[in-house]
Amino acid sequence: MNSNELRKKFIDFFVSLNHKHFPSDSLIPSSDPTLLFTTAGMVQFKDYFLGKKTGVSRACSVQKCLRTSDIEKVGHTIRHLTFFEMLGNFSFGDYFKKEAIEWAWEFITKVVNLDIDKLYITVYKDDNEAYDIWSKIVKKDKIYRLSDETNFWKMGDTGPCGPCSEIIYDLGEEFGCKKPSCDVSCDCDRYLEVWNLVFTQFDRQSDGSLIPLKQKNIDTGMGLERLNMVVNGLKNVFETDVFNPIVNEITKNLNVNETDRKTKNYIYAIADHVRAATFAISEGVIPTTEGRGYVIRKIIRRAIRYLKLLGSDQPFLYKLVPVVVKTMKDTYPEVELHREKVAVIIKAEEEKFLETLDEGLKVINEIIVSGKKVVSGELVFKLYDTYGFPKEIVDEIFKEANITYNEKEFIEAEEKAKNLSRASWKGVKVVDTQIYTSSPQTKFVGYTQYSCKAKLLAIIKDKQTLNSISKSEQAELIFDQTPFYGESGGQVGDTGKILRDKKVVAEVVDTKKIEERIVHIAKIYDELKINDEFDLLIDIERRKDIMRHHTATHLLHKALREILGEHAIQSGSLVADNYFRFDFIHWEKLTDSQIKKIEETVNQKILECLPVTIFYTSLDKAKQLGATALFEEKYGEEVRVVAIGKEEQFYSLELCGGTHCSNTAEIGIFKILSESSVGTNMRRIEAICGRKVYEYITSFETKIKSVAELLEVNTIEEIKNKVEKLIQQNKKLQKEIENIKTKVSTQKVEEITKEKNGVKYVIKYIPSVDIKFLRSLSDETIKLYSSEPVVILLYSLENKKISIVLRTNDVGLKKGVSLKTITEKINNVLKIKFGGREDFFQGGGTIEKNVNPNNFIEILL
Ligand SMILES: [Zn+2]
Ligand SMILES: [Zn+2]
Repeated sequence: MNSNELRKKFIDFFVSLNHKHFPSDSLIPSSDPTLLFTTAGMVQFKDYFLGKKTGVSRACSVQKCLRTSDIEKVGHTIRHLTFFEMLGNFSFGDYFKKEAIEWAWEFITKVVNLDIDKLYITVYKDDNEAYDIWSKIVKKDKIYRLSDETNFWKMGDTGPCGPCSEIIYDLGEEFGCKKPSCDVSCDCDRYLEVWNLVFTQFDRQSDGSLIPLKQKNIDTGMGLERLNMVVNGLKNVFETDVFNPIVNEITKNLNVNETDRKTKNYIYAIADHVRAATFAISEGVIPTTEGRGYVIRKIIRRAIRYLKLLGSDQPFLYKLVPVVVKTMKDTYPEVELHREKVAVIIKAEEEKFLETLDEGLKVINEIIVSGKKVVSGELVFKLYDTYGFPKEIVDEIFKEANITYNEKEFIEAEEKAKNLSRASWKGVKVVDTQIYTSSPQTKFVGYTQYSCKAKLLAIIKDKQTLNSISKSEQAELIFDQTPFYGESGGQVGDTGKILRDKKVVAEVVDTKKIEERIVHIAKIYDELKINDEFDLLIDIERRKDIMRHHTATHLLHKALREILGEHAIQSGSLVADNYFRFDFIHWEKLTDSQIKKIEETVNQKILECLPVTIFYTSLDKAKQLGATALFEEKYGEEVRVVAIGKEEQFYSLELCGGTHCSNTAEIGIFKILSESSVGTNMRRIEAICGRKVYEYITSFETKIKSVAELLEVNTIEEIKNKVEKLIQQNKKLQKEIENIKTKVSTQKVEEITKEKNGVKYVIKYIPSVDIKFLRSLSDETIKLYSSEPVVILLYSLENKKISIVLRTNDVGLKKGVSLKTITEKINNVLKIKFGGREDFFQGGGTIEKNVNPNNFIEILL
């Protein structure tokens, strides 16, 4: 029986027992933003469990789940996974223990025909009710009473909780730990938990007491991969049909020895991790340094390390994405929709980690080779921070090598780093939407109209609904229909007016969309009553600016992918009236020529006057056409497609709910204002269109004109000449200043002149100047002695640091002056090194004693 059959059999079985079949919720829990990932089938039913939602009393599902609490075991055991599918049936205040147990048993033994002899049951030690029910089904010696740890479920320290009962499958002695104590309660692989039935019947109070719940619930969970394994008599979850093709692909490509146990473990871990990463990334989670993104990074990097151990040091993991997609796409079409993006993102993460992996491993190997058994927590943090090793991976490697470190030091180092860059996981703010959802959904007419008549259905102020409102700074209004676009998909909400008999009675300052209700945030000028009729009119010019920007984002998106590559996909955007920003995946700063090319391409498409058409179709059809879907959006059966270009040869096709121009020509013109980084592998472009470019050019022109005025030129063209002239003038002035400085400072010098054998010796002391100054001064000085043989010695002294310049002229050389000999004499006394040529030497150093010009005369002569 393959996975498809098992999923179907499970759902069919419970649907036949009047359960409503719910499709899998996303991996990112839509109902509980406090959770990083969906970890169980029950997550999407939380509100039913708590009685907040009603209308369904029996449900069943196959839920995709992600858990990383046991990640270090994945690959090394026959049963642990990060990503898995959970089969579950649920009762919300409907049936309880008897049915849950009997149906589970019927499914396990009659539908999938597991061998009764191999099955065991566990119940909570005090749960006599469950024990009695089971004892009518199986022999009493097959039922084990276990304690809180394994058989009591709780949501938290207080709140709903209850006993569990597990169905266990005995895989046989060969899987056991061989300890004498090994039985159903053992944690080894032998006794495999297949199905867990949770009987939620108590509400735990803060004093620890258990009060029976009014609404008793059933929550069950059975791992599809484990069920698959035991139904098909396999030895390992990785041998099932969901993993087999992935495992084969790895073995085939890496050319490794499959019979080696460690090799096998690595391959299994890689197979699990690429599957988890594919699912998470296809839901928009991108490897980053925090939150969900970090969990995915951890998973991918663990796989990369194992690939390295298997001898692969080139990006390879991404090549497995197509086979993952092939095994899962029938059940989860979303992985196919985002296939290329997932591969591109995994590859980028591989390239990034491979850059530092070797160096990090070198550090780790040095520790292992040195035989050190304890290392500092700071070092582990450095491995994490500098070499990109997730802590869990370091832990795993150290554990194998029996190395420990101080956890506290690690946390301290991490805290320190965190304080430096305050960034942590921020949960999504939960909006209580009930007050809005009590109104019917709003009909949005704003795709084709800027105004309409509408009936006022709800007035909300300070979280209260009112029947009427008079003058007010702010209230929220919901109508039966509206032309106002509620903020969504990155596009800001509309603003505008609400009129009665052509008189403005309220002004809309913003519009939001909350669960298909369009909420107008308005200043109220006159009395408004529920059920009254009004004319709604949006600010048309502003909306047109927004539409220009939105249509331009689609052109930009396409241009980026054409110019930078298919990986350059949108990861977020803000479309406003005064500008738009567009975030996309890319790993390096764009060059000026790339930015220019992108700008040119978008403007070219604007000038081509391409029609923009909107049509509705099925998600499947849209995918076939090659439409781009955004990560963060959820799509229903019918999708709205925005197509730019002529039919059959569309330039851009995107699933989008925004408002758009009807032709690219309406955008007018497009200008990029900036390009910057917004995190790992993420870039941001900010740009403007249409009127905003005109305003930009105008203000630019004004600024340039004011510069021209300052420069006293008449035209913009003259600015360049004038500025060049000014620069030259400035250089000339600089030089003159230098000269003046030279002259000024020569005033303070001490100077001695002596003659010997027809050669004049000029010694000058200039306090506190540098060697450069001495050189230029020597140029000036030597000019004064063009016809007579001369030796010039200029020196400066400050804090025992001496600088010396020695010069002679042609006639001096003819007279036999040797500067070389002079430098040796000086060096003999002052220990100063010189460098230079026949007629020029310079030197410097530290001297202990002070020297005056007379001392030099003594040395030289
Ligand atoms: Zn055991
Ligand atoms: Zn759009």
